[in-house]
Amino acid sequence: MLHTIVDLSVRDVRFPTSLEQHGSDAMHTDPDYSAAYVVIETDCGLKGFGLTFTVGRGTEIVVCAVKALAALVVGKSLQGIVSDFRGFYRLLTSDGQLRWLGPEKGVIQLATAAVLNAVWDLWARAEGKPLWKLLTDMDPRQIISCIDFRYITDALTEEEALDILMKAKEGKQLREKEMLKEGYPAYTTSCAWLNYSDQRLEQLCTDALKSGWTKFKVKVGADLEDDIRRCRLIRQMIGPKNTLMIDANQRWDVAEAISWVSSLAEFKPLWIEEPTSPDDILGHAAISKALAPLGIGVASGEQCHNRVMFKQFLQASALQFVQIDSCRLGSVNENLAVLLMAHKFQVPVCPHAGGVGLCELVQHLILFDYICVSGSLSNRMCEYVDHLHEHFTSPVVIHDAHYMPPKDPGYSCEMLESSVQRHQYPEGDVWKQNTKK
Ligand SMILES: [Mg+2]
Repeated sequence: MLHTIVDLSVRDVRFPTSLEQHGSDAMHTDPDYSAAYVVIETDCGLKGFGLTFTVGRGTEIVVCAVKALAALVVGKSLQGIVSDFRGFYRLLTSDGQLRWLGPEKGVIQLATAAVLNAVWDLWARAEGKPLWKLLTDMDPRQIISCIDFRYITDALTEEEALDILMKAKEGKQLREKEMLKEGYPAYTTSCAWLNYSDQRLEQLCTDALKSGWTKFKVKVGADLEDDIRRCRLIRQMIGPKNTLMIDANQRWDVAEAISWVSSLAEFKPLWIEEPTSPDDILGHAAISKALAPLGIGVASGEQCHNRVMFKQFLQASALQFVQIDSCRLGSVNENLAVLLMAHKFQVPVCPHAGGVGLCELVQHLILFDYICVSGSLSNRMCEYVDHLHEHFTSPVVIHDAHYMPPKDPGYSCEMLESSVQRHQYPEGDVWKQNTKK
């Protein structure tokens, strides 16, 4: 079957998470986790589901951008797309008129991610495999053919990328078996959102320790005294051996970041995440250099908008942890480029997840990274946040603080139709009942 795409629809789906302060950080004080949710239909009945993540207001703008891209997708066959996936990626990201809105950044790139995530989901479903398995079973040359190397060949050539994948073939089957048995290590961000009370933090931390979590992230950056108190509390609860990370969500200027984080050094955080503007590569490099003697690394990526930015972060030694995002970059295609560059620069990848659907999506990419690229779990873990999984048809499975590899065909981001309808903005029941808009 040719699987010709006959329709692409998109809906604005929002969850009122701000009512409970879930997701609150130093810059996003009241997020309503949301998605531009895409469904692709084909002439043979097979569907593909994709999304990009937003935090509430403005999702309607991403929805408009997806609609603008739809004409480039409808009428194409799946086989036609995947036989030249690099060309199709470029068709979406380099349209002679639409590219003025980016290129490859901002709203139009979020929309590209939603559309391409649905195409990858469709492909995996057509092959009857979960996406991670589709990727790990691919010939390295086919993987390479999905990546647009434009603008990154000064850091990573096609030949080098192919070489990385060929070398990693050794031990691949063992690693796949290991993942199926043990899962991929995760850390939790669910215990310490910025606006949670100390009592709530303590309770969540106690519960998490009981469930086997050993790595915890705390939101910081609004008030130093509060941060010291909260970091002390959580460090006392988790003990000296467990891992603590801190996340400022872009709150500081460069000098402020260095002095603030130095004040938290006694709590031994593994990394400071997003200390300053996500676009400030040299600023991140300065912070990395200043914090290295304290044993604190710098992590970033959830708002790093494309492979060119990641290239420069790596070239400038500005990051010690690369945080790929399944909905910020141009889907699997662009994430593959970043995974390969991170490997070349020997920087561990620790994906950003949470929000709505991000855990479901990115688990596939990090499994591929371990099995086919990095071959290492050293200093590596995938973020986990315990919200909104109940709205998905194939929610993540966490066992003993590890992501268990998904088994269902696809990219795991199909939502329950009843959830979509209830949360559709502004007409869904949840929003009709909710006075908060
Ligand atoms: Mg973060």
